[in-house]
Amino acid sequence: MEKFKAVRGMKDLYGEELRKWKEIEKVCMETAELFGYEEIRTPIVEFSELFERSVGESTDIVEKEMYNFVDKKGRKLALRPEGTASIVRAYLERNLYQERKIARFYYYGPMFRYDRPQKGRYRQFYQFGIEILGGSHPFFDGESVYLLFQILKNLNIKNICFEINSIGCSECKRRFSSLLREYLEKYKNQLCSDCQRRMEKNILRVFDCKQERCREIIKESPKILDTLCDGCKNHFEKFKQYLEFSSIPYKINPHLVRGLDYYTKTVYEVFAEDEKNAIGGGGRYDELVEQLGGPKIPAVGFALGMERVSEIYRISERKKSSIYGIFLGEEAKKEGMKICEKLRKEGFVIKIDYEDRSLKNYLKIADREGEEWCIIMGEDEIKNNKVILKDMKSSQQYTLSYQNIVEEVKRIIKC
Ligand code: AMP
Repeated sequence: MEKFKAVRGMKDLYGEELRKWKEIEKVCMETAELFGYEEIRTPIVEFSELFERSVGESTDIVEKEMYNFVDKKGRKLALRPEGTASIVRAYLERNLYQERKIARFYYYGPMFRYDRPQKGRYRQFYQFGIEILGGSHPFFDGESVYLLFQILKNLNIKNICFEINSIGCSECKRRFSSLLREYLEKYKNQLCSDCQRRMEKNILRVFDCKQERCREIIKESPKILDTLCDGCKNHFEKFKQYLEFSSIPYKINPHLVRGLDYYTKTVYEVFAEDEKNAIGGGGRYDELVEQLGGPKIPAVGFALGMERVSEIYRISERKKSSIYGIFLGEEAKKEGMKICEKLRKEGFVIKIDYEDRSLKNYLKIADREGEEWCIIMGEDEIKNNKVILKDMKSSQQYTLSYQNIVEEVKRIIKC
């Protein structure tokens, strides 16, 4: 029978890569907690409509990339393509806005998009993200960037640079859309069919187009920053001031709009090291809570892509050394298990191979699998209340007394 394969665009995590991920997760969560963020875990499955109404029906994510399905009761459901919509849904459903003026959440988990798999782009990918709900001051936008910057610094990631822009409030977006339409009308025949459709349905989405010719045309288009109302201009200025006094490296990218409809005012992406793709992105979404049926509550947040961070992250801790338990015969296996229990209580990692093998065979396996230490017990050792500890690198053997096993192993392995 042919072997099963993982679904295209989805990968297994194990070994050193997973150890790396766990270090990154820890830094992300601990840093966010220092800023007063609390974890929130929402289901992976939501009603498709939640994303249609928030991310936007004419975005690539909803239009082309969502994993939609119908359940046994005929409900239209989706695997979440991003985290923000679910958090706003939970925030409203659980009335969390009545508990706190400013709610700060972080989340972590898999997201699903039927994208074309390539380097840094998967169909199941993980995001660590934060949301601040209830704050309208531009310094909240600043805090979200600052926290992302701190996380990346704590991960020892170099060459961090934020690209920022403002797409304005819904009024600014409307005004800019008609300006853009006027400009694009001249090139309509040269635009791809997707962009021609976008022009009718949701013109800002032309900025997401990856076709060369469309990009050239869009490059020369009017800039939204030049058309912002005074309120939005002022917001952007204050946001930039925050970045400056916090020494956060940034540049303005006047074409940055992000691929989700709910953004208003500030949008940003972060790049680092020599990774071409953005490793994270975020922005303000002042109208989403209301759009999903709640009160008028401003908000801002970001999401960081784990796969992309892990590509540039250098693991800091070596794999924890473990002891390989070799117990020859039934009696030794039973005694050995008691020794292992004592050592595990002290934090030693011990693996036992219960298979009946010769000592030579056991040692060959331990050597091949890179084990650093072996603890060996056979009939003679049981008789004399002794245990052997073998350093696999130097081949040195220590005969230890059963009574003081923990102290002696600690002394030799030094941990
Ligand atoms: P978005 O949710 O589109 O704002 O993306 C935020 C971050 O998630 C990006 O900067 C990427 O790091 C990551 N990301 C988005 N889509 C994918 C994907 N298909 N595969 C891997 N990472 C992704």
